[in-house]
Amino acid sequence: MTPGPLTTSSAVKQAMLVDYGSRDARFLEVMHQVRTKLLGAANVSKEEGYECVIMQGAGTYGIEAVLGSVIPRDGRALILSNGAYGKRQQQICTILGIPFEAVDYGDHEVVRVEDMLKKLKEAGPGHFTHVSMIHHETTAGILNPLKEIGLALKESYPSVRLIVDSMSGFGAYPAQMKAWNLSYLVSSANKNLEGVPGFCFAICERAALEEAEKTNGGPRSLSLDLVGQWRNMEATAQFRFTPPTHSILAFHQAILEWEAEGGCAGRGARYKANYETVLKGMEEMGFKCYVAAEHRGHIITTFLQPEHPKWDFDAFYKALSDQGYVIYPGKLASAPSFRFGTIGRLYPKDFENLLLIVRQCVQRMGIELPLRE
Ligand SMILES: *Cc1c(COP(=O)(O)O)cnc(C)c1O
Repeated sequence: MTPGPLTTSSAVKQAMLVDYGSRDARFLEVMHQVRTKLLGAANVSKEEGYECVIMQGAGTYGIEAVLGSVIPRDGRALILSNGAYGKRQQQICTILGIPFEAVDYGDHEVVRVEDMLKKLKEAGPGHFTHVSMIHHETTAGILNPLKEIGLALKESYPSVRLIVDSMSGFGAYPAQMKAWNLSYLVSSANKNLEGVPGFCFAICERAALEEAEKTNGGPRSLSLDLVGQWRNMEATAQFRFTPPTHSILAFHQAILEWEAEGGCAGRGARYKANYETVLKGMEEMGFKCYVAAEHRGHIITTFLQPEHPKWDFDAFYKALSDQGYVIYPGKLASAPSFRFGTIGRLYPKDFENLLLIVRQCVQRMGIELPLRE
């Protein structure tokens, strides 16, 4: 019940039982298929002017590669931030010396189009070259209005490029690169696409990459050079440095399973069913959600810890994990909480089982259910 790395299918794990070298033609063919399928998952293609660049490493490496490679030395990013991942983008910019400003919200709020427009207007034309945001904020489990932000930029600030961290959105929430005016979308292998960790990827508008190549003043990092990685993949079909071969093989199987499930709509529907199962059961026991229903996504759900003298989170965590259910501690500054991820190769019946164990465990602590205010 973690939001990645997460539970994967047996076939995904079995796909890793082959050792390929970096230049093996069979591996390069799998790479090619994976890159093509990822473009399809973002509702675009190479013919339409989009590219898929794969980077080794965790999702953050992909975010750092995009921020560090596409914002010119005299450019400036506006970061819309409502949780730990927006903060992380600010930290990356600080470390890399990228000029930025942020609109900061609380971690129970959604980012707002009107605040962005106000900020861009006050700054005047040319001040900000990029806006960057999170699609689904995993900190508390909030869906941000990506489409509305993209369309508002297209209408009022067409030269400002939009970067989106869709790590925990992509594959389960729709993302239309072209129709929604997204220049760069970053996600990783081990979230909604249900692969194993090892790499992340950026879906990029080719014109944006070409512009970045001309204007970025050179990469800020060798290994996290998005443009360099793209040029090399185009020229040789290979990674520049050791590829995550097993992770790519696993991912190839994972994306076939995603397609077979009905792509974004099918995967999203299963996660929503998981979420609804969890929500109903937890509310019956008297647990309270942290995020208001209208902003809540169905990827991960934050519950407030009960304010009962006998409540003991560490004992709760351990009792669940002893039975094979690993949950996620909360990341909120404001209140003690915990989170249930509803993604991975998990079905409503898995969450029914989780709920039984939660109930047992709370009762064993000597807490009466349902919880009272
Ligand atoms: C998981 C996640 C990341 C990246 O996390 P890594 O630990 O670097 O893989 C970034 N943004 C969001 C919204 C995420 O959910």
